[in-house]
Amino acid sequence: MTNAPRISDLPRAWSFLEPLGRSLGLCALGLAPAGPVPPEAARAFANWLHQKQHCQMHYMENHGDLRTDISRRELFLGGGAEIVLCVALPYSDGTADEGIWKHVARHARGRDYHKTLKKILSEIGRAIRDRFPQVVFRPVVDSAPVLERAWAVVAGIGEIGKSGALIVPGIGPRVLLGELLLRGPLPKITPARHKRQPLDPCKDCDACVRACPTGAIVAPKVVDSRRCLSYWTIESPKGVGDPFAKEMTKIFGCDICTTVCPHHNATIPCALEPVATAEGRSMTVDKAVVATDEELERALAGTALRRLSAAKLRENLCALITRGSERNPREMTTQLSSGPRISVQTRNLKGGIDPRTIKRRGVKILEALELPDAELSVLLCDDATIQALNKNYRDTDAPTDVLSFAMNEGDTQSPMPHILGDVVISIETARRQAADLSFSLLDEMTSLLIHGILHLVGHTHDTIEKEREMFTRAAELDRLFPRAHL
Ligand code: SF4
Ligand code: SF4
Repeated sequence: MTNAPRISDLPRAWSFLEPLGRSLGLCALGLAPAGPVPPEAARAFANWLHQKQHCQMHYMENHGDLRTDISRRELFLGGGAEIVLCVALPYSDGTADEGIWKHVARHARGRDYHKTLKKILSEIGRAIRDRFPQVVFRPVVDSAPVLERAWAVVAGIGEIGKSGALIVPGIGPRVLLGELLLRGPLPKITPARHKRQPLDPCKDCDACVRACPTGAIVAPKVVDSRRCLSYWTIESPKGVGDPFAKEMTKIFGCDICTTVCPHHNATIPCALEPVATAEGRSMTVDKAVVATDEELERALAGTALRRLSAAKLRENLCALITRGSERNPREMTTQLSSGPRISVQTRNLKGGIDPRTIKRRGVKILEALELPDAELSVLLCDDATIQALNKNYRDTDAPTDVLSFAMNEGDTQSPMPHILGDVVISIETARRQAADLSFSLLDEMTSLLIHGILHLVGHTHDTIEKEREMFTRAAELDRLFPRAHL
């Protein structure tokens, strides 16, 4: 990398990081004093949430204070961060380029970058500790609520372009970001951002805005996830529905806005590690779509594709295969499906219920409702989480026992009607209700799950008649699960 751009502009006491970072494959690193993000970054984030442009990434609504202040002690127990080191790893044109990998965004064509970047950050942390023995560090790669691009700007390693990506001078937008939180006796630093005026990397360019096939870049630096293929193929618990599926060329992510960016420097070597297994490297779309869950798990181990459930990956594959043909992706997915699909996630829970039991019960309920190919997401959470959802979506600032978010409501029919929506259950409220009624927690959770699912399939309390109908159906379903006697 003899002609490679400088990777840092560090104070002298920190200059030992430059050769280390370069030897580890980084293309940029910078330091900033920890504290609140600049107000414009906090405002932009709040506005993005307010406009619901995070779509179903509800976790983004949590920990607002932590996201906007990286020095908060909750992020780094024992006192909070004092300095943040921001790093960028270039992925340029990716590693594998064959088979299924052609249809995977460049940043994910290889070993899961979270693992690679975490290893690099830990190595840097150890090198810092060798010089400053009392220092403690925490590597962060999407593993804590941190506004990473805002910090990268403060640390002086790049500027945010219209596409919302961080653009590193001489490298471009194809970089993966990580942070190292540091605390202890360390040389002082000043924020790089204050040394100079912020630069506009875009000026008159709007290539990414014009190239985006779904119009997701709705304003400079603002990507509306509800339109972004990257969101739909990676983050969304649901399949890629019309009208976006017809624009899809990847089963994981989207490279269009970074490819057209004039700052993209294709000569920079990719620092990602290759896919570990021969089985994974030779995986093709045709093989993957008929593979069992276990086969996919084995072949794709250690890659970012493992972040998708097998069902979601299959759904993305079907959308890709049927794109531009008369074939219906929905039918193809159904043919490959092996019964109702339920994902159960937990948030802020400490034991109490086994998510696998809730999943099994959910499957049984959907089968009893004769919905063999239905799909739904269940979130088991604490009171604070459900209260936040109530506040944001139901104008109620209080915890409730269960919430349903239906994909098909009234006259609004989703393009993928088999995807029912989300059920959210507060275990804390369920536990209190179970104690009041002398039920077991599982019995109460099951009743709430039934209630939530019935809402998703159209039952309501709108009239006494409808309510009676709903409770009759709920009682029938309750009988599928004999109650435990306390
Ligand atoms: S990732 Fe793709 S869909 Fe999302 S903003 Fe960029 S070009 Fe548009
Ligand atoms: S494509 Fe043009 S407008 Fe978009 S981020 Fe790159 S320089 Fe900015």
